[in-house]
Amino acid sequence: MNLSDDLLLRYSRHILLPEVGVAGQARISEASVLIVGAGGLGCPVALYLGAAGVGRLRLADGDTVDLTNLQRQIGHATAAIGENKADSLARSVRAINPEIEVRPIREALRGSALHEAVAAADLVVDASDNFATRHAVNRACVLFGKPLVSGAAIGFTGQLAVFDSRRADSPCYHCLFPEHVEEPELRCAEAGVFAPLVGVIGAMQAMEALKYLAQVGEPLLGRLLLWDGLRADARVMKVPRDPACPVCGSAARQAG
Ligand SMILES: [Zn+2]
Repeated sequence: MNLSDDLLLRYSRHILLPEVGVAGQARISEASVLIVGAGGLGCPVALYLGAAGVGRLRLADGDTVDLTNLQRQIGHATAAIGENKADSLARSVRAINPEIEVRPIREALRGSALHEAVAAADLVVDASDNFATRHAVNRACVLFGKPLVSGAAIGFTGQLAVFDSRRADSPCYHCLFPEHVEEPELRCAEAGVFAPLVGVIGAMQAMEALKYLAQVGEPLLGRLLLWDGLRADARVMKVPRDPACPVCGSAARQAG
């Protein structure tokens, strides 16, 4: 891939990094990324991936922008209240970088639409806010062999992990959080969320996504990062693949 003079300037601070260089930037520019959710996490993820020049971005969200979102969902302007979130965020990303293709998907992805979108992506970012979507996205990523950057944030705490079922050392989301475990689901609408927390976790998701695409550094594979914003403390736990996992385990693979 040849980057024009304008693009070499736009991405020059990436290209200056010896770990990235022209080759790494070209990988980023050729990549296609699906971001599921255009809320608190999806906004910083999309803004950074767009600014950094990911060639094709698909943003999926079926919700509309609400006044209560604006305290933290930095890709949406006050004038966008009532507008679909994928449309609103796509416009913000295009304003930063008109050189890339940004396509909104104005629905909560599920079923065949989810499968099509995952199959078409090189990497998927889960920026959703509920377990049902997280598990559906994880199953689709295992099915189509796509890397998944998963993040979650509530209150003052967040978590982050990268999964790639093509690699033997990587668990999937289900290995960590089995579906049968009945956890009460905390939602921002009931529990509240500290504004920059979604920026911290979303920016780390963007960091992991770009590293993976550019083939830079060590991805957060087989590890779960837990961030406690109140104490400004991070923990990284090793998380193995569950050989009996019904989604990515050997029995599931043979059946699939
Ligand atoms: Zn698994």
